[in-house]
Amino acid sequence: REYACSKREEAISNFRFVGKLESATPYGNGHINDTFLLVFSQPDMGNHRVILQRLNNEIFKKPEEVMANILGVTSYLKKQIIANNGDPDRETLNIILTKDGKPFYKDSIGSYWRAYFFIEGATCFEKVEKEEDFYESAYAFGHFQMLLSDYPADTLYETIVGFHDTASRFETFKKVVQADVCGRASAVQEEINFVLQREELIHILPDMFQAGKLPLRVTHNDTKLNNIMIDNCTGKAVCVIDLDTVMPGFAVNDFGDSIRFGASTAAEDERDLEKVSCDMALFECYVKGYLKGCEGKLTDTEVSLLAAGAKLMTFECGMRFLTDYLDGDHYFKIHREGHNLDRCRTQFKLVQDMENKWDTMTKIVEKYGS
Ligand code: ADP
Ligand code: MG
Ligand code: MG
Repeated sequence: REYACSKREEAISNFRFVGKLESATPYGNGHINDTFLLVFSQPDMGNHRVILQRLNNEIFKKPEEVMANILGVTSYLKKQIIANNGDPDRETLNIILTKDGKPFYKDSIGSYWRAYFFIEGATCFEKVEKEEDFYESAYAFGHFQMLLSDYPADTLYETIVGFHDTASRFETFKKVVQADVCGRASAVQEEINFVLQREELIHILPDMFQAGKLPLRVTHNDTKLNNIMIDNCTGKAVCVIDLDTVMPGFAVNDFGDSIRFGASTAAEDERDLEKVSCDMALFECYVKGYLKGCEGKLTDTEVSLLAAGAKLMTFECGMRFLTDYLDGDHYFKIHREGHNLDRCRTQFKLVQDMENKWDTMTKIVEKYGS
């Protein structure tokens, strides 16, 4: 990775940057890409900043498709923001093209680089400290959905194939249980049964889609708080960033994944399951912000499936942790023995808690959705 970053100067010289480069330093807390802050100076105009990123080529096998998706979505967002009297330089990522007009630069050892305007006067927060920040992230992702509601989602590349194809993940799960390569299955029969008993969950969204009742949407697929920039003065969400996993999908899955990690009262790998629950105040806060941001662009069916999306994403995630545990921990990095099993258990505890609170969840959605 360090070797790859030695190509930074080469990359910089190939973008349409203006001014004189004053500095280039690692930046931010991203875990996926290598992010750098560049400062340029111009006589009589002061300095301006730019974000330069080297894409993670282990995760993104088709970087050109990733960048085509981002270019398509950000160009569209820009027009929408202008039409809504917003600030197109600040309320969406803006790609800086290379000297030959491409949205990325491929360096001499095959790494991909891209550059964005730096969004000034705003901050990314790592975790929810105030309910208002969670509300703002909900509003921002809802607003993102609203601005893109007429975007032809089927023209986007599916850059990670089957990302939320729960049915195919269920098939994989059953095969891994059958193979039981680590001999771990007998000790986790309870967790295995938890999955098998909920098989009907995996059909809900595909069936609705097949029946023409669920629209394909532009989904973000990494709807964490730290992928939102919050204005330093107003505390309001400014922009949704980190568009690497933008893909065609279902809005309720983005919503659901936000609830899965954002409304949980404990860490994803908490061992004391007594501490793990889905916080109804946070759920309400997110529903309220998300639906406000959507401005009525979700269909009634989508609204009626929000709680189901939360449960489904949590179930899918728990099933993936269990699959990886049974398969020998190849996919998710582990930091202790049984880490993936612990993670699986928190997710299933959350699913169970949502099942217990189903009436409350449904009522909250109805309160803001009608
Ligand atoms: P990763 O996929 O590695 O999380 P991100 O695209 O989220 O990468 O970027 C990492 C961090 O860099 C963000 O959390 C944010 O702090 C900062 N960042 C990214 N893009 C911009 C931008 N256009 N303006 C200002 N800061 C940015
Ligand atoms: Mg990020
Ligand atoms: Mg990312």
